Order: sequence, then C-alpha cells, then structure tokens
Amino acid sequence: MDDIYREQILEHARHPRNYGHLPAPTVVREERNPLCGDQIRLELAIADDIITDVRFTGRGCAISQASASLLTEAIKGKPVAEARQFSKDDLLDIIGIPLNHNPTRLKCALLSLKALKAGLYEVGHEDDDL
Ligand code: ZN
Repeated sequence: MDDIYREQILEHARHPRNYGHLPAPTVVREERNPLCGDQIRLELAIADDIITDVRFTGRGCAISQASASLLTEAIKGKPVAEARQFSKDDLLDIIGIPLNHNPTRLKCALLSLKALKAGLYEVGHEDDDL
C-alpha cells in the first residue's frame, strides 16, 4: 500500500469531511456492509438538478468512512447528471489504494457509492412520476 494514499485514508477517517446531517435533505440513503459491519448514511440536498450540499454519518472501518468523506467532496456542487456518471473507478482513483484484487475491502470502499447511486435512483424515480 502506498504510504501517501494510506495517510490520506487515515486522515479522512479521523477527520471526515461533510460529516453530520442536513436540515432538510432531498434524499437520505443508508447502506450497510454486513461483511465488515460498515454503515453509511448519505444525505443529499438537490436543487435545480445540482447537488447543493451533502452530509454523511456512519461507522465502520477506515476505508469505508474515508471513502464516504472523499466521495462527498467529489460530488458536492456537481450536477446530478454528473454524479450519476460517477463510477466505481472514479472513486477508486480518488481513494488511490489498489483494491480491485481485494473483494472484501472493495465492498468497504464502494459502500458510499452504493448509497449515492441508490439515492440518486430514488430522485430519478420521483422525476419519472411527474
Ligand atoms: Zn469495512
């Protein structure tokens, strides 16, 4: 594991960005990873198809929490359409640690992305109903 990236993960795990709750989130999505006991609750505020604000809370291993912290930084202020395109590889690039050959750790790292995708899917459904 590259030390620079390892430091980044530990730093984000200790001091997560955008941690907490939004006063009036547009969508809230909680995901769990039973393999590791990780839990991520993602809250998005969406206005005019822009993710205007984002918060998360959670508990679990350093990778799951750091990943959520990094993801919130990456999507804050972005158009919903762009966030929908945000891929597993995009997130892994930001995390910087090669996890593709470690399926257990990969699940930890991608838990926050799973919450994002599921949350945006819910938003999309609301639009479809109009
Ligand atoms: Zn984990």
